[in-house]
Amino acid sequence: MPVPSFVKKVRIMENSKIKTAIVTGASRGIGKAIAIKLAANGYQVIVNYANRAHEAQQVVALIEQAGGRAIIVQADVSKFQEFEKLFNIAEKTYGSVDVLINNAGVSKLSSIADSDDELFDHLFNINVRGTVNGLNLAAKRLSQGGRIVNFSSTAVATSTPGMGLYVGTKAAVEAITKVFVKELRGRQITVNMIAPGLIKSEMFFEGKSTEQIAQMEKLSPLERFGEVGEIADAVAYLVSKDAAWVNGQLIRVNGGVA
Ligand code: NDP
Repeated sequence: MPVPSFVKKVRIMENSKIKTAIVTGASRGIGKAIAIKLAANGYQVIVNYANRAHEAQQVVALIEQAGGRAIIVQADVSKFQEFEKLFNIAEKTYGSVDVLINNAGVSKLSSIADSDDELFDHLFNINVRGTVNGLNLAAKRLSQGGRIVNFSSTAVATSTPGMGLYVGTKAAVEAITKVFVKELRGRQITVNMIAPGLIKSEMFFEGKSTEQIAQMEKLSPLERFGEVGEIADAVAYLVSKDAAWVNGQLIRVNGGVA
């Protein structure tokens, strides 16, 4: 009797080597949830952070308590040499890098009229240059068959006032990602994007009044905010074998708000 295809799949998964994932901005919020989820799925995880060393250490402690493997690495993703350090340490510790999650990002509410050079540089350096640094290195160093997930935002679709520069950074990430997917021809690496919306992370609550938050909670037809773990679930799918044919796509994970 022929072996059903799902049986073959289970065997392949059992025999596959342990994979290593770099998750940028994993000290809190969505990145933390992704690091914990991927570790629970058997990945060795590089928990990157910029400033919050203690929080990043706690993420590693949570992963280790659950029997997983992870290390923290401080690096400002907007600086190429620091991003390079993430790959160097990952390769030295675990042998290779198979997955890159370009999650690190910053946001600040400001109308375009009120924005200045400093805000422009801050947002574009971390959100765009940081992502490009990761893609540059991944193109050269990610394992054959690897996975990359970049982070956009649902605000690109909603054109939310006060988010002009931030939206600009994420639109740039979307456009660059589409080109990068094609430049990776032959590497068997998939590159996809998640555009979260209304996710209960620390970033989401910053700079918003209680009234604004109460109004926003009803924006989605599901009439609630999303959880960081719901973004981690979508990332876990994109890096899995099940998503092998999903490439160059943007998935909005936002409860149907746009
Ligand atoms: P948080 O502010 O909660 O977390 C941001 C993370 O990024 C932190 O771990 C922070 O590290 C890290 N970080 C910031 N700057 C740098 C840097 N220069 N180098 C390395 N790491 C850095 O944000 P979220 O979890 O909400 O957002 C995660 C991603 O999702 C971002 O790209 C964001 O734009 C996107 N997003 C989020 C939405 C939401 O509703 N929350 C909606 C749409 C998009 P440290 O703590 O050490 O400073």
